[in-house]
Amino acid sequence: MKLWNHYYTPTKLSEASELLERYAGNARVIAGGTDLLVDAKAEEGHTPFEALVDITRIPDMQGIYDQDDAIYIGAGVSHTRIVQSDVLRKNAACLVEGCGVIGGPQVRNVATLGGNVAHALPAGDGTTALVVLDAEAEVIFEGERKWVPIAGMYRGPGQSLLNPTKDLLIRFRFPKLGAGEGTAFDRIMRPQGVALPVLSCAVWVKLDAAREHFEQIRACVAPAGPVPARLETAEAAAAGQPVTPETIETIIQTALSALKLRTSKYRATAEYREEMAAVLLRRTLTIAAQRAKESPQAR
Ligand SMILES: Cc1cc2nc3c(=O)[nH]c(=O)nc-3n(C[C@H](O)[C@H](O)[C@H](O)COP(=O)(O)OP(=O)(O)OC[C@H]3O[C@@H](n4cnc5c(N)ncnc54)[C@H](O)[C@@H]3O)c2cc1C
Repeated sequence: MKLWNHYYTPTKLSEASELLERYAGNARVIAGGTDLLVDAKAEEGHTPFEALVDITRIPDMQGIYDQDDAIYIGAGVSHTRIVQSDVLRKNAACLVEGCGVIGGPQVRNVATLGGNVAHALPAGDGTTALVVLDAEAEVIFEGERKWVPIAGMYRGPGQSLLNPTKDLLIRFRFPKLGAGEGTAFDRIMRPQGVALPVLSCAVWVKLDAAREHFEQIRACVAPAGPVPARLETAEAAAAGQPVTPETIETIIQTALSALKLRTSKYRATAEYREEMAAVLLRRTLTIAAQRAKESPQAR
């Protein structure tokens, strides 16, 4: 089965943009190919892509670094590199944990964070973590280079803001983890392994100076709608409350009354998924609060 006619490996952002422009809608961006090529192979009578533009050799899309108050990750960085990064382990445990459960080692070695976001599935595990990290994505969208909040990258299930025959996702940034802050991610899978996750959950918490109260939290349970979204009412319920099991139960109950989880034959029943949302929120909030308590003091 022929999947493409021409394959390009540009080493500069400008070259990738020029190729996309030259093919005028007939070229497609590719990173690890673990979504794109798997979908193409599954498509009956797939017409080969006229050209694939592989972005994984472009240095602007390959870095993981901290600069000033932010952490930057290139869109072409693989999940394996994210898992192995000390900078990310220190500043974004939820992202390391989320990317660490994507597929198996072979998938993680080639699949990228940019592909996870550009594919725009509401269940993307890297995406769920980026939502609570308050990340932004740098893109070339309709010819203009700009930063977009992560929530603005989604138009619907599988529908990205970006047109992958024209636009490019370059890198992500989010604030460095501060004193009294912590994050965590967890997910529930069916035991069969390759099945879709029942539910994933990421949280970010900030405690007050005494580290006894939640000052602010961000939480995301996915997939729970057409696009990944934060649990804003539950987040509001946490503000100013003591870090206790009782507060965590209040946050969970507030989240459950706002969440509209559906039964899915590929995932589980709505009732089971609701119970699992409670389990995941309880686990991740407890772990993130503990990490926040133990985080280094501000200098
Ligand atoms: C066996 C298996 C298991 C998997 N398990 C999981 C899982 O547990 N959790 C999970 O979240 N995902 C999972 N996935 C899905 C997939 O691996 C991830 O979504 C991965 O991060 C996609 O990245 P990629 O680099 O392979 O994207 P690609 O397939 O290369 O691209 C995906 C889409 O994004 C576009 N694109 C890619 N990079 C850019 C860019 N820089 N700019 C613009 N557009 C771009 C492409 O054109 C395409 O439309 C699994 C896939 C497989 C095959």
